[in-house]
Amino acid sequence: MDQKTRNELLKLFKSKLNEAMRLYLETCTRCGVCTEACHVYASTGQVKHIAAYRSEIIRRLYKKYFKIRGKLWPSLSESKELTDVALEELFEAAYSCTGCRRCMVYCPFGIDTQMLMSIAKLLLIGANTEPEILTLLADTSVEKGKSIDLFKEGFLQGIKNLEKEVVKKWKAEAGDSVIPVDVMGADILYVALAGAHSIIPAAAIFNAAGENWTLSFFEAVNFGAFVGDPTKTKLILDRIINEALRLKVKEVCICECGTAFRVMKQLSGKQPFKVSSITEVHARYFKEGRIKIDPGKFNTAITYHDPCQLARNAGVMDEPRYILSQMTKDFRDMTPDPTYNWCCGGGGGLVALGDETIDFRMKSARVKADQVKKTEARILATACENCHSQLSDLNDHYKMNVEVKFLSSMIADALVSE
Ligand code: SF4
Ligand code: SF4
Repeated sequence: MDQKTRNELLKLFKSKLNEAMRLYLETCTRCGVCTEACHVYASTGQVKHIAAYRSEIIRRLYKKYFKIRGKLWPSLSESKELTDVALEELFEAAYSCTGCRRCMVYCPFGIDTQMLMSIAKLLLIGANTEPEILTLLADTSVEKGKSIDLFKEGFLQGIKNLEKEVVKKWKAEAGDSVIPVDVMGADILYVALAGAHSIIPAAAIFNAAGENWTLSFFEAVNFGAFVGDPTKTKLILDRIINEALRLKVKEVCICECGTAFRVMKQLSGKQPFKVSSITEVHARYFKEGRIKIDPGKFNTAITYHDPCQLARNAGVMDEPRYILSQMTKDFRDMTPDPTYNWCCGGGGGLVALGDETIDFRMKSARVKADQVKKTEARILATACENCHSQLSDLNDHYKMNVEVKFLSSMIADALVSE
C-alpha cells in the first residue's frame, strides 16, 4: 500500500473516532467474557472469531496512528501498521461479524464490536476491497431515489398485478383501493421490500384493520448500512424520509427487515412522524380489536426467532410474543431470552452475499440450529427477511424439521372477519 492510500484511509479512520468509539478502543481489559458470546466462535471454536480478537485488529491500528505511545514505541504498544495484509485481516473480521451485538450485552464495559467493525468496513470501502455487489446494490437504491419518475410506471403495474392475491386474503369492498400508493395525508406509509411476499400479507392486514395507509415507492432494505457506507446509508434513508414528509403521513411502518427498521428508527432524527416496525403495528391492531384471526389456524407448537436488529438492538421483543399468544396455545420460547438470543448468522450483509457466504453461514450458526431444535416446535416464525432466508438455509442444512414462516404472513393467512 502506498503512503497516499494509507493517508486517505487514515482520514476515514479518523472520521469514525467520536467519543463512544474512542471509549470502545481504549477500554477493553481482555477479560474474555465476550469469548463464548459470539455465535461464530461458539459454533466454530476459532480464535479469530472471538469478538475481542476482531476488535484488537482495529485497536492496534488505532494505537499506531492515533496514540502518541504507538507512534513513538510501536513495539511496546502492540500497534500495527496499516498494510494490505492488515486490510485482509479487517475483511475477515468485518465480514464474519453479523453485527448482532450479543457480545456487547455480555461485555462489562458494553464495548460495541459492531461499531468497531464499522471502522473496518469503511476502510475496506476506501481501499475498494469491500464486497462489490453490496456497493452496487446501494448505488442502485440511491439512483432510484434520484430518478423515481423512471421507475414509477413499472412499479405501479407490478403493484396492480398483486391486487388479486391481496383480495384472496382479505376481501375488498367496491371502491376500495387494495394497494394504495401516493396517498396524501395517509396515517401510515408502509415501506416494503421488493417482493410480493412483503406486500401481499401486509396489504391484507392493513385493509382488514381499516387502516388509512399508502405503500412507499421505495424498498426498505438499506444496502448502504450492510456495506458500512454512512453517506449511502443516509441517502437511501432520505428517500423514505422525504416521501413521508411529502405525503404528510403520521407514521412510517417498516416491513419485516430488521436492519431497515433499526436504521430508520435510530438514524432518521427528529421527524414529524412516528417510526414503527410492522410487528408493533400488528400487535396494536390485535390489542385494539381491529383484526381478528382464527386461533385454530396453526394447531401446532410455534417458536419465534428474535431478529437481532429488531429485538436486542431496537427493543421489539414483547410484541411478537403477544401476537403469537393470540395464534397458538403452544408457544415455545427459546432459551436464552431475547436479549441474549443467538443470532441466526445471516446479518451484516452475509445473506445478501448469497452463495459466496453459505458455507460460512452454516458453520457459524450451529448454535442457532441447536437452539431451535431444543424447542421441538414445528413452526419457526420470524419477522426479518434476512433471518427468514438464513433460517430456511439452516433448516435444510441441520434438518431442524420446522416450517420457517414470516409472522405477518401467518397473521394474514389466519384473518377472519368475525
Ligand atoms: S456483534 Fe455478533 S457476530 Fe459480531 S463479534 Fe459480536 S457476537 Fe460476534
Ligand atoms: S468482554 Fe469487553 S472488555 Fe472483556 S475482552 Fe470482551 S470486549 Fe474486552
